[in-house]
Amino acid sequence: MSKSGNFFFISILALFLIFAAGTYMKAQTLQPAWMKDSQLKLEKELIGKYGVSQSTRIQKGLKQTAGFWREDDGNADIFENFILTNFAGDQATLDVMFTRFENLLEKLNGHLNEISLSFREQSELDHGHIYPFDETFAAYSPGAHITDDFFNNKLAFIVLLNFPLTTLNERLTDGEQWSRRQWAEVRLAQRFAKRIPAEVNMAVAEAVFITDQYISEYNIYMHHLIDAKGSRLFPPKMRLLAHWNLRDELKADYQDKKQGIAKQKMIQQVMDRIVTQTIPEIVVNNPDVDWNPFTNEVKPAAVKDFDVSLKSNLKISNTPEPDTRYAALLKAFLASKQVDPYSPTAPTLIARQFDENREIPEDQVKAMLESVLNSPLVPKIAKLIEERLGRPLEPYDIWYDGFRSKGKYSEAQLDEIVKKRYPAPDAYKTDMPNMLMKLGFSKDRAEYIAGNILVDPARGSGHAAGAGMRSAKAHLRTRVGKDGMDYKGFNIAVHEMGHNVEQTLSLNDIDHYFLSGVPNTAFTEAIAFVFQAHDLDLIGISAADPQSDALKALNNFWMTYEIAGVSLVDMEIWHWMYNHPESSPTELKSAMIQIAKDIWNTYFTPVFKKKDVVLLAIYSHIIHSFLYIPDYAIGHMISSQIEGHIRKSGNIGAEVERMVKAGSITPNLWMKNAVGKPVGSEELLNSTKLALEKLKK
Ligand SMILES: [Zn+2]
Repeated sequence: MSKSGNFFFISILALFLIFAAGTYMKAQTLQPAWMKDSQLKLEKELIGKYGVSQSTRIQKGLKQTAGFWREDDGNADIFENFILTNFAGDQATLDVMFTRFENLLEKLNGHLNEISLSFREQSELDHGHIYPFDETFAAYSPGAHITDDFFNNKLAFIVLLNFPLTTLNERLTDGEQWSRRQWAEVRLAQRFAKRIPAEVNMAVAEAVFITDQYISEYNIYMHHLIDAKGSRLFPPKMRLLAHWNLRDELKADYQDKKQGIAKQKMIQQVMDRIVTQTIPEIVVNNPDVDWNPFTNEVKPAAVKDFDVSLKSNLKISNTPEPDTRYAALLKAFLASKQVDPYSPTAPTLIARQFDENREIPEDQVKAMLESVLNSPLVPKIAKLIEERLGRPLEPYDIWYDGFRSKGKYSEAQLDEIVKKRYPAPDAYKTDMPNMLMKLGFSKDRAEYIAGNILVDPARGSGHAAGAGMRSAKAHLRTRVGKDGMDYKGFNIAVHEMGHNVEQTLSLNDIDHYFLSGVPNTAFTEAIAFVFQAHDLDLIGISAADPQSDALKALNNFWMTYEIAGVSLVDMEIWHWMYNHPESSPTELKSAMIQIAKDIWNTYFTPVFKKKDVVLLAIYSHIIHSFLYIPDYAIGHMISSQIEGHIRKSGNIGAEVERMVKAGSITPNLWMKNAVGKPVGSEELLNSTKLALEKLKK
């Protein structure tokens, strides 16, 4: 996990539509009537003043500014005066303007990031009692109104008048020829590519709240699930949140040799009923009833394992949940659709996710997903899983979890070694240059990087918080117990240190602040995983297990195969909603069931030998994450590419330094610079193939 400060503004682009509440209250989609005349007049005047060589910039700047200008920003006189005053018609003025924005926005982002870090300190660090007001400080977002402020004081319009907005297609096709400065200008302009009215932001925030709440309260009380013989397979007090906890329990049940299969089948049946909404409304989040998910029979609970009585007002019956799941998704869609008119370069949620947030075209993502789903490796690995399980595959084996190797050292032995070495966070901090040198950084560079990373005691398992400006430092938050750091904590700390190294280099050593960071989180995660995989080398013990890498590769592939299917469901349902904007929750449900079945039948039936399974649609993210799921599948592929390349080159330090200097350009360009090829599935498929061969030997 990382909390990346140098992404601050880019994530504001993504997040401000969720959190911001505007200062202007009226939505005006129509351009003022006088605008066309003013534009023509100004175009002539500016070309007269600065020459024909500036005409393309003048036309584009005028169009961009006019596109966002509203009547309450000022009348024709104010508009014309603003344009004449603020157009930078010669290179020298443009250079000053660019540099000033770059310096000052770094300060703005950087200081806001420092404020956020401070406000969250009490709740995130191991600093004693958290008062209710500490939580309010932690939840406060000091940057939420910046885009509104910048349109109100017209700094946003100055950017739109002088720097180009681009489409993803332009960034991909022309981007390779752009200079670094051109790229930085493009990133600056992108910050102001949308101007969303307050009430639209509120609608989105409400949809986020409603879908989050629906998902976060969807618990199944497992001890109250009854099989045909009336037995309870799951222990008392087990309350599982759909779908994450249900899936994790299903994975853990592979270890239960006696009842594992019965438990897994029952969980699959519960998931099926959630997707199809045949689940009785009264069993959701309610320990007061017993339920047989196969017959769908509901009775008053015969045992009590929770004190809460959540739904005492409801009559006990198996009346199904009234398609609430799909009503929530529809809310997410309708709110997102309201943003469309205010986002001219990405006018649908689908375009905003693919073209702006991931910057990989939807077609390319689809092809990458299909290349995994259609891979001839799928039946081979499926067969291997069947051999390992000793039975034919069941649909829930999309979550097969058995590609694991046993390490040379026990967890207790590792705990002992690490605790002795790192009794307190300071000991880890002191050892950082040494660890970085073992990863291939030179002494100078290792000391420089370590000098930019502070180590803090975390409350949770740990995370990495990057700085937002060059004068600030990155934070490695790590968990250290009273008797020292245990192995699990150390393993996470090394992962987070990987994030911190990326954050430090891609901010402090970058040529343009607007290009700081990496293209998206998958890139920083890949670097963090490379570090994490070498954790034992850093403390001088070699526990290399020849099979562990191969097993890891197969596990990775199987996870990608599963999430690629879910990704296609996520993508198709959003297209369906855009094609059927007037649909009811019930119609949406039918569409979802059909889409999930079709994708299953195409890509999973050939190896699972079962048709019309709806499991792929169980992901909670489909309901509340606004088309985020493909990022998980892409992330596996990006990781394979980066890790594969670093493994081949052998020098982690040198390669990480070289790679991250590309900064936050598009993923395809970054990857070409890093490994010589655009983002794709090839490396994932290759490493899986090699792993399979290695295990056969
Ligand atoms: Zn991470």
